[in-house]
Amino acid sequence: MFLPRDFVQYETKTLNSIAPTIGMFTLGEFYTNSKYDLLNFSSTVVALKEKNIKKNTTKKQLIEMPHRDNIGLISDGLFNFINVRTKELSELAFYDELTGLPNKNYFTDTLEYNLHTAGTNGLQGAIFFIDLDDFKKINETAGHYIGDNILKHIAKTLDTKLDDSSTVFRFGGDEFVVISKDANQASSLALNIMKIINSEMAIESRKYYLNSSIGITFYSAENSDIHELIKQADIAMYFSKNSGKNKYTIYDNSMGTKAKNDYKIENELREAIINKEFVLHYQPQYNMKTNEIISAEALVRWNHPKHGLLFPDSFIEIAENSNLIIPIGELILDMALKFKSATQKLKKIAVNTSPKQFNDKLLDIVSKKLKKHNVQANSLELEITESLSMNEDTDVMSILISLNQLGVLLSIDDFGTGYSSLSYLKRMPINILKIDRSFIMDIPSDKNDVAITKTIIAMAKTLEFDIVAEGIETQEQVDFLFKENNIIAQGYFYSKPVPEDEFLKLLK
Ligand code: C2E
Ligand code: CA
Ligand code: CA
Repeated sequence: MFLPRDFVQYETKTLNSIAPTIGMFTLGEFYTNSKYDLLNFSSTVVALKEKNIKKNTTKKQLIEMPHRDNIGLISDGLFNFINVRTKELSELAFYDELTGLPNKNYFTDTLEYNLHTAGTNGLQGAIFFIDLDDFKKINETAGHYIGDNILKHIAKTLDTKLDDSSTVFRFGGDEFVVISKDANQASSLALNIMKIINSEMAIESRKYYLNSSIGITFYSAENSDIHELIKQADIAMYFSKNSGKNKYTIYDNSMGTKAKNDYKIENELREAIINKEFVLHYQPQYNMKTNEIISAEALVRWNHPKHGLLFPDSFIEIAENSNLIIPIGELILDMALKFKSATQKLKKIAVNTSPKQFNDKLLDIVSKKLKKHNVQANSLELEITESLSMNEDTDVMSILISLNQLGVLLSIDDFGTGYSSLSYLKRMPINILKIDRSFIMDIPSDKNDVAITKTIIAMAKTLEFDIVAEGIETQEQVDFLFKENNIIAQGYFYSKPVPEDEFLKLLK
């Protein structure tokens, strides 16, 4: 394929003298009077943009090539000469060095060309933005040499296995893009791409498997802005990533608004980490018999410079998706332990965690923070999600076990909303179950919730877990739970989460 940029290297004069006719135009004419802009050359078609100087508009035209061969454009010695001279240049500019696939520049030209043809014959096509899942892990564990070979392998298999209606590009890193002229087959093509990428790769006598996340958008005369199209496919790809990876998502407009907003918040969160804009509120937990505060749950708030105090539901999910919850979680732990240390009357502090924090650094962070603030490990409770407690990943399990060995208490938050298996729970180093608010809410009127709560309590007692009932709001709920014995109570009935100074008053 020849691209317009290749020709610009040559003086008009040279081109004039060698230019044969391309359709109705000569290349010389094209360059000398600048009446046309060349949009795209392929071996079969030339796309031209006709400038209308008076109206300052352009008209797009497609012209079939009269002669062609597979090396250059036209069977002409001089053109082949140009071809050879420019090949090196164009390969650098339009092909990816590592994989040999056409690159982002080439993509732009191809899409522009496809859009013009789609415009004339009404066809629609699809763009697939492909990102390999957890490719970073491969680079980190197997090294960049293997990583590069995997990229080459994937590039080659995609390029050979996809049919002629699709073109594969490498955008850089572990990002590939496919343009397909067949919009109707987008879903099956996406599945096919995922299958191709997921097939076994043998590299240097070791086997590797990778998944991919894909975002799809469709181009047409109405949706023809190239930058916008890439953005749409990219946004849809992020939706695939954020909803668990290894899947494809078709773009729709509502994603654009959400993505823009999330992106803004993500950037503000980066600032918030640097400026330490987070504060903790504390919600007391009570011994129901003695009405004594026995613990407190730390709940994060964001002191936003423009919007004031923000609650976690407006930023935690974004912090998790962007992994910013890892540094934020560390700040939270630090603040909570500092507060615990300064508040000797408080026996224990419970801190929420995100599954994202359960990496190989967590144990070290927790033990260092405990030392820094001189807090006993068993005065710290980490609340984990039910899904994390059910995680079969041996790494996660070993982190939980190490935390437990350190003496830190572990509780399962929002218990009952996930799918816990009893036998599994028995093997986990869990100390406390926190019954989700949704069960407590309709007690005692809803007989089902009453039955479920009773069952959870009976089960938790058998397994010797402590039990916290969350979201207690009414006297009836208190009466019901009181009868169950030894339930730890938390909820608005007792107190909302409050700032430090108010909490200290509650403690007195
Ligand atoms: P959660 O861990 O289930 O926290 C309890 C939430 O229920 C808190 O909302 C609390 O204010 C609210 N709540 C407590 N008692 C009652 C009640 O009686 N009635 C009602 N209607 N609500 C009650 P909040 O503070 O907005 O936190 C929401 C969620 O955000 C938390 O749910 C937790 O999942 C997350 N979150 C909060 N702080 C942190 C944090 O430091 N780290 C992480 N990773 N997540 C956090
Ligand atoms: Ca919690
Ligand atoms: Ca909870």
